[in-house]
Amino acid sequence: MTPEQRAADFDAADPLASFRDRFILPEGVIYLDGNSLGALPKATPDRVQAMVEREWGEGLIRSWNSAGWFEMAGRVGAKIAPLIGAAPHEVIACDSTSVNLFKLIAAALKMRPGRKVVLSEPGNFPTDLYMIAGLEAQGLAERRLAERERLFEAIDGDVALLMLTHAHYKTGALHDMAALTRAAHEAGALVLWDLSHSTGALPVDLNGVGADFAVGCGYKYLCGGPGAPAFAFVAERHLADLQQPLTGWFGHAAPFAFSDDYAGAPGIDRLQCGTPPILGLAALEVGVDLIAEIGVGRLYGKSQALSEFFLESLMAHDVTLELVSPPSTAERGSQLSFRHPEAYAICQALIARGVIGDFRAPDVLRLGFAPAYLSFTDMAAAARHVAEVLASGEWQHPEFRERAAVT
Ligand SMILES: *Cc1c(COP(=O)(O)O)cnc(C)c1O
Repeated sequence: MTPEQRAADFDAADPLASFRDRFILPEGVIYLDGNSLGALPKATPDRVQAMVEREWGEGLIRSWNSAGWFEMAGRVGAKIAPLIGAAPHEVIACDSTSVNLFKLIAAALKMRPGRKVVLSEPGNFPTDLYMIAGLEAQGLAERRLAERERLFEAIDGDVALLMLTHAHYKTGALHDMAALTRAAHEAGALVLWDLSHSTGALPVDLNGVGADFAVGCGYKYLCGGPGAPAFAFVAERHLADLQQPLTGWFGHAAPFAFSDDYAGAPGIDRLQCGTPPILGLAALEVGVDLIAEIGVGRLYGKSQALSEFFLESLMAHDVTLELVSPPSTAERGSQLSFRHPEAYAICQALIARGVIGDFRAPDVLRLGFAPAYLSFTDMAAAARHVAEVLASGEWQHPEFRERAAVT
C-alpha cells in the first residue's frame, strides 16, 4: 500500500476528521506551521464582526458592562485553565507571553528575597532569555543557563526561579515537568513553565506537578489569531501574596475608584495591567472554545499518530533527513524538526509547492502537526513533496536561497 492509500484508511477511521471543516484553510495548502500561527476557525470572522458592529458600533462604552467586556480576560483564562491542568481562577488571558514572563519572573524574585538566580537553558526561546536579561539589567536577577542534561545539578540554594519551556520551540523535545518542578522545590526555588508550544496540543497538568507559575501563547495551537493575547497562570497558594511590577489600573482592586494609590486586585486579576485588547480576546475565545470542544487528550493522540505516519511516509520514499526531534512520540511535542545545511532553501521550495512549514536558524526545517485541522492525507502528500523537492534538487533555485527578512 502507498502512503496515500494508508492515509485514506486512517482518515476514514479518524474521529477528529470532521473538525477540519471548522477551519478556513486555503485551497492547495498543507499547513504545517500551526505551531507558529494557528489556522483561522470558521466561526471567528462572524464573532469579530459582531463584536465590532454590535458591541462596539452600537453598544459603545456601555458594552464594558452589557457585553461582558470587563470579565473577558478572566473568562477566557478560565476556559484555558482545563487545557493546562489549572483551576479557572488561576488563569487570565492578558498581554503577550513576553510581558507575562516579565511580570511573573519579577514576582517570583520578590518571593525569594536573598536569591537572584533565574535558571534556564541555552537555546530556550529567545524572548524567555531576553526577559531574564532585562531584569538582570535592572539589577533584580542573575541569569544562569545550564544545558538540559545539566539542569538538575544546576539547581542550588541560589536559584530563585527555574524557568523553562515545556516543549522546545525548535526541536519539540519535552522537559519532565514533574521531576524538574520537584527538584526546584526541594532546593527552595519556584518554577515557571512556558507552555507556548504545549497548550492546545498536548495535555499539561500544572497543578498535578505543583507548578508555581506558567505562561503561554494564544496564537499558536489555540488559534487566537496574530498577536492574540497570551495567558498567565499563578498557583492558588501564591495568589494572595503575588506582587507583580506592572501595577497598571486594570490590575487594581477598584479601577473605577480612580484612587491615587495602587491596591492590587485580589486574585488573578492583579496580573492585568492596562485596558485589555477586547477584539483580540474575542478572536482568542473562539479558538479556545473550539480546541476545548475537540479535547486536548484527543488532539494529543492524533498529533502523535500524524507525526509517526509522516515519518513512515518519508521512509516509504527513502528520504533520509536528520531528525533533531526526539524519535519517540512520548518525548516530543506536536512537531518534527530536521537538520539540513540547506534547510532554508528546502523550506522555501516546499512553500512554493503549498507545503507551509518553517525554518529556524541556522539549519532546521520545522514541521508542525496541528492535529485539529490536519489529515493523514495531508501527511502523505507533504512527505511526497519533501521527497520530490530533495530528489529533484529544485531547492537549489536561487529564488529559494534568497533570505527574506522574516522567516
Ligand atoms: C511563541 C513563543 C513565545 C512568544 O512570545 P510573544 O511575546 O507572544 O512574542 C514565547 N515563548 C515561547 C517558548 C514561544 O514559543
